[in-house]
Amino acid sequence: MPAGERSPKQHFRSARNAVITSLLRSGELSRSELSGITGVSPAAITEVTQSLLQQGLLAEIPSLSTNGRRGRPIVNLRLQASHAYFVGISVGESAMPMVITNLCGEVVAHHNLPTRKSPGHLVKTVQKALQEILRAARIPRSRIRGIGITISGIVDANEGICRYSADLGWRDVPAAQLIAKALRIPVWVDNDANTIAVGEKFFGKGRDIEHFSSIMLGRTIGSAHYMHGKLYRGHSDSAGEIGHIAVVPGGLQCRCGRKGCLDTVAGGLALRNAAKLSGFPVRKTRELEEVALHGNTEATRLLQNAGTCVGLAVAALVHLNNPQCILFRDFEGFGDGIFRTATRQAIENNIMSRYLGSTQIIFNDAERDLLPRSAASIAAFEYLNSL
Ligand SMILES: [Zn+2]
Repeated sequence: MPAGERSPKQHFRSARNAVITSLLRSGELSRSELSGITGVSPAAITEVTQSLLQQGLLAEIPSLSTNGRRGRPIVNLRLQASHAYFVGISVGESAMPMVITNLCGEVVAHHNLPTRKSPGHLVKTVQKALQEILRAARIPRSRIRGIGITISGIVDANEGICRYSADLGWRDVPAAQLIAKALRIPVWVDNDANTIAVGEKFFGKGRDIEHFSSIMLGRTIGSAHYMHGKLYRGHSDSAGEIGHIAVVPGGLQCRCGRKGCLDTVAGGLALRNAAKLSGFPVRKTRELEEVALHGNTEATRLLQNAGTCVGLAVAALVHLNNPQCILFRDFEGFGDGIFRTATRQAIENNIMSRYLGSTQIIFNDAERDLLPRSAASIAAFEYLNSL
């Protein structure tokens, strides 16, 4: 086979992925609609859908409408949501939510795990909770096809190892292997910023977008990038460390050992520390917006400065990667306040005019279960890719 040409197997795989992605987006489609949307020939669509029907991944739904004058009823196809289930767990310092999602990425069960920081305790906790959840939700264990775990810290996703997590006090913990061995279910681990981006691609705003950047606004700031429909990890799995871009030369000390990183002026933790030092301590970052709204000029300055710094870093990212869309996920509860306005303005004022109309900026609050649900979608992607 000449170099660059795809084998029949690769063609089949690419057509199958296109079918699954289209059904995830649209819910129900007929074979001819699938062919139209994906650009895959009707013959190949028939072959792929037959194979997926045999595997139990698809279900046929007779439609009431008919196809043309011959009056043949149209048969629609949809993913069989109960064919496979995935577990998603967000391992954090103060909370460990766990969910089970179906093949369509919908949450069917939720559980809050007791926070246990030692890896050994985590394995036992997950083992016990999974047993209870499956019993309560009446899901056969054999239908669980994978577990996705998200950890705040430096994660080697290829090896499934948490290299370092300041929150958990972990160093070189082979989390995926430990849990997979105990539960005999495949496990994937990734950091929170990558996990959110995968969630955006699987069930969020990134479904229809090939090139997008996802920005996580939390205690610290993270980012991840989809390019040509794939998560870009960089050569050593470290792409996306937007929080450690230097924005204030010689500024405040950052936990990474350097000074003036974006995290030190715009992370939720840094903002709360700054508010405390300025004499108006707040428990949650959203209270800072309220304080500013009531006329506190220092609170206004902190939020404006934070938003401007985030906007400048994102403007640089737009120039570097030319994404179609920037998807912000707000875990801090800034709302439509000073921070968001300053961020948006700084992006718009600092990107070249040709990017202005072609780069969508979307802010979304982080809904409940976003992290564990996104973690489950890591496992779903791996399962679907393995078919
Ligand atoms: Zn830093």
